[in-house]
Amino acid sequence: MVVEDEHDIAQLLALHLGDNDFEVTIACDGHEGMRQAFARKWDLIILDIRLPGPDGLSICRALRREQAYVPILMLTSKSLELDRVLGLELGADDYVTKPFSVTELVARVRAIFRRIESLEKTIPGVGEAIEIASIKIDPASRQVTVGRDRVKLTAREFDLLLHFARHPGLVFSRAQLLDQVWGYGHEGYEHTVNSHINRLRAKIEPDSTQPSLIVTVWGVGYKLDPEPQAASAA
Ligand code: CA
Repeated sequence: MVVEDEHDIAQLLALHLGDNDFEVTIACDGHEGMRQAFARKWDLIILDIRLPGPDGLSICRALRREQAYVPILMLTSKSLELDRVLGLELGADDYVTKPFSVTELVARVRAIFRRIESLEKTIPGVGEAIEIASIKIDPASRQVTVGRDRVKLTAREFDLLLHFARHPGLVFSRAQLLDQVWGYGHEGYEHTVNSHINRLRAKIEPDSTQPSLIVTVWGVGYKLDPEPQAASAA
């Protein structure tokens, strides 16, 4: 789905994506975009930031509060750094700055689909639940429980936790996490990783001020400790 109020751009996108065998639905303002975004499960949403009604950032934020993950490509106007940072902070998968070349945009769309396909294909035992200490992660239902309690994670927090859980004990740098979990390796967005890790810790760690599960490896990055010490242990 393309959410774009500029008619010419929306038509151009629909035409070229259609030529590339994508089926495209257009929402021409923020209200329609917000309604459509939740009306069905989309394979990808291309979201313009500046829209009448709720803007692209609001729609992105609302989608990322949901447990189900939908890939989002943002269209930003000019090269407003703030727009970019906000888009990525909010959990967009990628962004393209206007004016953009259609070829470039189609290439980005393909890259997002390729990444999702390879994620789904290459991970062994993709549907199997993983248990670490008192945490149970179920990739099929995308649910996480700590002890007996269900924990509500955003789509990105879930992906991050699952990535760590599938590679217990392995240290990942922030750049690697951006590349492997977010799907892009833009430099300068490492703080995005930090803030997601902090939110994730607050939800799953017994004591998030002294993380025992997702631990910081000084000067390198983070790893998941497969045998975390109980927070109460002296
Ligand atoms: Ca616009």
